Amino acid sequence: MEFGSDYSMTIGGESVATSKTLPVVNPATGEPFANCPDAGAEELDRAVAAAQQAFAPWRQTPVAERKALLVKAGKAIEANADELAALFTREQGRPLALAKQEVLGAAIWFKVTAKLDIPVDITEDTPERRVEVHHDPLGVVCGIVPWNFPVLLASWKIAPALLTGNTLVLKPSPFTPLCTLKIGELLREVFPAGVLNVISGGDALGPMMTSHPGFSKITFTGSTATGKRVMESASKDLKRVTLELGGNDAAIVMPDVDVDAVAQQLFFGAFYNTAQVCVATKRLYIHEDIYDALRDRLHAIAQKDKVGDGADPANMFGPVQNEPQYRRVLKMIDEARALDLKLLEGGPVPERGYFIPLTLVDNPPEDARVVAEEAFGPVLPLLRFSDVDEVVAKANNTPYGLAGAVWSADVDKAVEIAKRLDTGTVWINQNLQSTPMTPLAGHKHSGLGVENGVAGLLEFTQPKAIFIPKVTPEVA
Ligand code: NAD
Repeated sequence: MEFGSDYSMTIGGESVATSKTLPVVNPATGEPFANCPDAGAEELDRAVAAAQQAFAPWRQTPVAERKALLVKAGKAIEANADELAALFTREQGRPLALAKQEVLGAAIWFKVTAKLDIPVDITEDTPERRVEVHHDPLGVVCGIVPWNFPVLLASWKIAPALLTGNTLVLKPSPFTPLCTLKIGELLREVFPAGVLNVISGGDALGPMMTSHPGFSKITFTGSTATGKRVMESASKDLKRVTLELGGNDAAIVMPDVDVDAVAQQLFFGAFYNTAQVCVATKRLYIHEDIYDALRDRLHAIAQKDKVGDGADPANMFGPVQNEPQYRRVLKMIDEARALDLKLLEGGPVPERGYFIPLTLVDNPPEDARVVAEEAFGPVLPLLRFSDVDEVVAKANNTPYGLAGAVWSADVDKAVEIAKRLDTGTVWINQNLQSTPMTPLAGHKHSGLGVENGVAGLLEFTQPKAIFIPKVTPEVA
């Protein structure tokens, strides 16, 4: 495709512009560099109507054909990965190589999700009858995505919603709308008109969508506070909801690890994407026997790894994605400083743009904000522990339950600890892993429902039991 600098919405297979637009800022400079459409009620109605019209033929389209179109969508994204990655870096801030990884990850998600089958469950099969449970699509789905993984998380909504026979209206974050709009444009060539609609807008658009009566379901990824609002709004007409929300993940590092071997991976698991990852390590519990050695090693990495404009390949870490988040993280660091907590700062960062040095906090108290709350930015508390029961209790002492990690040379022992963590995912000696085949589920305030895997597909369906007699009843 011609990768021009116009950004339009995709409604009913057509390019749609709005009279009002919103500026999109490059977080590495703090300056706007493009505009995106600012949709209102009229465009939303139009998108919902297009998706409603497309629903009946799409649900009748054989599932094999729907899957083939998902694979085609994956290939279209892959073929445009370089252009999308460059745009991604400009709007989101992440260094180019890692931006491209996300774009290619989304392509993979389309292709691998296409391999999942919608099950038909047989709950009874006797000489008298057979009972089949089919999984029907719900109708028009509303997809809402945050700014930290705008492309990958869009694929987590599009692929399963469409595979299961639903149609979709997708909204990116106003901070990162451009790649999603471009993907909508690309996929106009792939899906029938109205099956995938992409609209963008400001703060008013999300609530307008969640209260729109034309949607049967909302699939939402974002903060816990917004997730609660989404659920409240959805309750008015019993829309189905899947909520993937915030986390305050703990990683537990046992004394038998090789400190030098694990330090870089641990660091990356906390600071990847400038620590704006729902499943990043946000509390790092280190056994007292290796605490000082690992802390010093992590601090050395923070000082060595370069932070700056993602367009420069020398930089490993980019800016915080947007100004409100930048101010929030700075405030958390200022509060830690005011409490006389010991901060270990990384290397220098550019003055222009939303840059913050990669910062470690040396063994703060459990009730410090930097421990108790999700920072969602480059500040990581290191916490000393001595006993497994104590550290499991601390790791679980949070309203969140998204993911966690255990690091140990003794994998069996690590698995035993993993079983005691109240989270939807636990990694052993690794982090930030997810696959299209594996359900991601937030426990407690980290979410409701599941994304990915067959369980994730089923969230876009409703079960329908069909009782089929094998003995023809005698009719009088
Ligand atoms: P956010 O909740 O502010 O915004 C998310 C999306 O919701 C955006 O598109 C926004 O425009 C929209 N929105 C805002 N208010 C709305 C409302 N009242 N009704 C409907 N939509 C509304 O979140 P964010 O700051 O963009 O993202 C960061 C958060 O997302 C973090 O807490 C992070 O942990 C979480 N997150 C979770 C996952 C996961 O899979 N669990 C993945 C990525 C991010």
